[in-house]
Amino acid sequence: MAQTAPLVSVQDVSKNIGALFFWDPLSGVAILEKNGHQVNFRTGESLVFFDYRDVELLDAPVHSSRGLFITRDFARRLENFFNTLPTPVSYRVGAILIDPGHGGRDPGAIGKTTVRGKTVEVREKDIVLSVARDLHDRLTRQYPDKKILLTRTGDTFPSLQERVEKANSFKTAPHEAIIYISIHANAAFNTASRGFEVWYLSPDYRRTVVDSTSTDQDEILPILNSMMEEEFTTESILIAKSIMEGLDAQIGSQSKNRGLKEESWFVVRNARMPSVLVELGFVTNPEEARLLADEAYLQKCATGIYNGIASFISHFEGSRGFTASQ
Ligand SMILES: [Zn+2]
Repeated sequence: MAQTAPLVSVQDVSKNIGALFFWDPLSGVAILEKNGHQVNFRTGESLVFFDYRDVELLDAPVHSSRGLFITRDFARRLENFFNTLPTPVSYRVGAILIDPGHGGRDPGAIGKTTVRGKTVEVREKDIVLSVARDLHDRLTRQYPDKKILLTRTGDTFPSLQERVEKANSFKTAPHEAIIYISIHANAAFNTASRGFEVWYLSPDYRRTVVDSTSTDQDEILPILNSMMEEEFTTESILIAKSIMEGLDAQIGSQSKNRGLKEESWFVVRNARMPSVLVELGFVTNPEEARLLADEAYLQKCATGIYNGIASFISHFEGSRGFTASQ
């Protein structure tokens, strides 16, 4: 295909606009987000979505080893869209549901480490509860106007179904979003495996996010459904990216950044809201088991996740007053 128009980097364009930019070279999905407004497109495709309402055909973005590139016309259209928005959409995060994995009779992954000469078990259910409670306290202090909830507060075992029902039972006001953060730790037969990762739902995964009783207009339901699903996926990717950056700043020098992953986890898949799953590290790696048994390290994990969520909220709600906690 003859591409004669001069190309510009989407990275540079988004920086000029002041938008958050996400691009996954594997799936080709690209998202620009600012003040609750979004533009979505894909490498090699001409379809461009503006706030999920308007679709336009623009020159397909081109992927090179130096990044993602678009024509000047495309860039001008993006600048025009973001710079002429009347007021930021008053979307807000109404609630955050934190889900520490496992609990009670289900210990999750188990590793071993030595503390002051004694061998101790490092159990996923304990690690994730500690981080989840810390995260809950920080978010509650910082956001008194939001509902911050835990799926469990002690050593109990809510079933996956109960966790999902708790997530889906929230009644939110119009323009309010709920975000769902599931926290886990990893295990592997290969004890060399180490590092933290954040999972989000695959953009290709199809699910029903609109309650079928909420409308009797059968024709619009599939369209509405696919729009909301796309939106939740987008938000999930942005939350995952923010949390990954938050964790990397806190524990990146001690652990290993394994990057963003996409999957269709049961809990995440069935929660009708943007959701991510955080894996803090491997209890089966001797070095990481030692870190994960250390309360100070778990506090760093909570700080990293907190900073990621706070960063996402400030973008989503369009405020610029965010300061990272250390
Ligand atoms: Zn787990």
